[in-house]
Amino acid sequence: MTILLTGVAGFIGSHLTEHLLALGHTIIGLDNFDTQYNPDRKRLNVRSFTDHPNFCFIEGDIRDQMALTDLLRRSACDTVVHLAARTGVRDSVHEPALCIDVNVNGTLSLLEAMKKTNTRRLVMASSSSVYGNSTVVPFREEDDANRPLSPYAMSKRSAEMLAHTYHHLYGFDVACLRFFTVYGPRQRPEMAISRFTEKMYEGQPITLYGDGSTSRNYTYIHDTVLGIVRAMNHLKGFDLLNIGGSAPISLRDLVKLIERAVGKKAVIDWQPNQPGDVVQTSADLQRARSRIGYLPSVPIEEGIHRFVRWYQQSLFY
Ligand code: NAD
Repeated sequence: MTILLTGVAGFIGSHLTEHLLALGHTIIGLDNFDTQYNPDRKRLNVRSFTDHPNFCFIEGDIRDQMALTDLLRRSACDTVVHLAARTGVRDSVHEPALCIDVNVNGTLSLLEAMKKTNTRRLVMASSSSVYGNSTVVPFREEDDANRPLSPYAMSKRSAEMLAHTYHHLYGFDVACLRFFTVYGPRQRPEMAISRFTEKMYEGQPITLYGDGSTSRNYTYIHDTVLGIVRAMNHLKGFDLLNIGGSAPISLRDLVKLIERAVGKKAVIDWQPNQPGDVVQTSADLQRARSRIGYLPSVPIEEGIHRFVRWYQQSLFY
């Protein structure tokens, strides 16, 4: 396949590209090196494949519809994987307009460019945050997802709905993948596992919000990438799919796992819960399993171990 991959320089995008190139696909990678976190990290993320003969990097913005249309017209892409976004719940609370502009208007710009160039296969990143503070666990794709708790969650749900509209009006095949907190080498630096590991190595306190009982379903990057590839291979009609890890873990237990892998005890600074944060995330994976054969394989203990091993060799710390 020839694939346009937006957000190629990000955490998930760079892992996915390595995997797709190894499978023999051709990748046109688009990214604007957004400054939400240090763009030097993103330049490092793409370093291993920028010279690959089946890879072409385009520095550009998904909101530039004319450039996207031109790119799709010239490159004969058959599939688009859309990962570019302003990420993170807390940042979106502080900068809602930018989040909505990139995640909603940017997605609309991409959909329009696809329509104009008759490119009708789309796999896109959504998020478990669309479930809000649902107390019915595990979260299932048919659950109500219309009570977002942050501009980010709202933007992801809106992008899903836009994609559905294009499926309905123009016959796009679409899979919206609801990722559950993804971690692993090159994870975004502001995310909990990265932050905690860094602080523990530096002997600095880590800040925990709430009482440690909040829980998350963490997904190792290898499983997320396999979920995306499976969705690409089974793309038909319109699907919403949870792509998560096998079981949720509490914040308290997560910290214990990182302490064990790092070999140091954390100093904890307890703070009240943050606005926009959800109490728990838990993925029902039955639909992903039956539709695309998705099954996560890396348990959290193993994933944390791999992450910390990578961290010790990482250039950035
Ligand atoms: P990331 O920030 O590392 O990657 C996103 C990339 O998009 C970045 O390289 C950024 O420069 C690029 N980008 C941002 N705005 C852009 C624009 N206007 N035009 C072109 N490129 C732009 O984030 P990630 O963790 O790799 O997340 C990838 C996708 O998965 C995002 O859509 C995110 O919302 C979604 N997601 C991630 C997680 C997670 O835990 N990592 C969980 C749920 C959903």
